Amino acid sequence: MLADRRHNGTVTETQPDTAPADAPPRKIIHIDMDAFYASVEQRDNPELRGKPVAVGGSSGRGVVAAASYEARKFGVRSAMPSVTAKRRCPDLIFVRARFDIYRAVSNQIRGIFKSYTELVEPLSLDEAYLDVTAYRKLPTATAIAEEIRTRVKDATGLTCSAGVSYNKFLAKIASDQNKPDGICVVTPRQGPKFVARLPVRRFHGVGPKTAERMQRLGIETGADLRAQSQEFLQAHFGKSANYYYRAARGIDDRQVKPNRIRKSLGAERTYGEDLHDRDAMVAKLEEIADTVWQRAEKSESYGRTVTLKLRYADFETPTRARSLDHPVASRNELLAIGTELLDTLIPDPRGVRLLGLTMSGFGETGDTVDEQDQPAQLGLDI
Ligand SMILES: [Mg+2]
Repeated sequence: MLADRRHNGTVTETQPDTAPADAPPRKIIHIDMDAFYASVEQRDNPELRGKPVAVGGSSGRGVVAAASYEARKFGVRSAMPSVTAKRRCPDLIFVRARFDIYRAVSNQIRGIFKSYTELVEPLSLDEAYLDVTAYRKLPTATAIAEEIRTRVKDATGLTCSAGVSYNKFLAKIASDQNKPDGICVVTPRQGPKFVARLPVRRFHGVGPKTAERMQRLGIETGADLRAQSQEFLQAHFGKSANYYYRAARGIDDRQVKPNRIRKSLGAERTYGEDLHDRDAMVAKLEEIADTVWQRAEKSESYGRTVTLKLRYADFETPTRARSLDHPVASRNELLAIGTELLDTLIPDPRGVRLLGLTMSGFGETGDTVDEQDQPAQLGLDI
């Protein structure tokens, strides 16, 4: 769907009837690289082209970090255990992740974004929002997005998809609409209709669990969501209610924030059965360190402080932290510090029901916000 190219492709042609009357429409672009890690690997190794490729470890507890489009046809998805992926696609080729290369490409594309606006908000290595409202050299945001896509292709040999709209919420959904190598424009006039047809699970911030809850309440689409009162949403979704209420109307006033400073990055797990054995706890800590380290690599954020959180069976929840004079250098260092902190809290007769690891102390280098286990819980800052 190449929306509204006939109408000059502009996203400013009409005032959205849902926006505050005094707010001029903005021009927001969301750029998302197509199957980023996998595409980089296929670019750099011709033998992988046209083949089902998964970036990630193939053995044991390995997890797919990214899948090529050929692999996706078999149902291989990122975050899927490699064992499952292999079952779905026996010919799947596993490739080790090369984050240094992904970071270099990421810097290249950010350089291109920055030539249009200072208002660039990266969400990860391969995704960013741009506010191009003030850019005057091209007539429309659509033209800017097309030029960016061409320049990204020329500079990196990789394709990306673009969503063009008047807010972040719609731009992000739009970039997914015509993937790969596609563009989708949602004008202020089209916004409310576009949202009405959308399945709620495609709303940013609606995870599988929330989507299920909504379904039980008879809410499947944006139109269903829009039909609910603020009171109803408040009763069922608490602090997310306002976000849903506005999103269902295509409204999202969040600014593109270029200098978000990451404060912490971590993960924690609760266990169905209390852990008593140190070896078992260290094994669990290893899994958590893997997750945290993966997130750190993805967002290029390495903190100097490591915090261990532990919950005993009686719910007492102490934390222990240690700060280094350098950013944590490896997953093994993270785990070693975590284990050292763990040893200050065990053995303990109560048993342990939760373990967590967090990195903080990023200085000025980070460019994203708090990322804990549920990055999808967006809308809190709306
Ligand atoms: Mg992507």
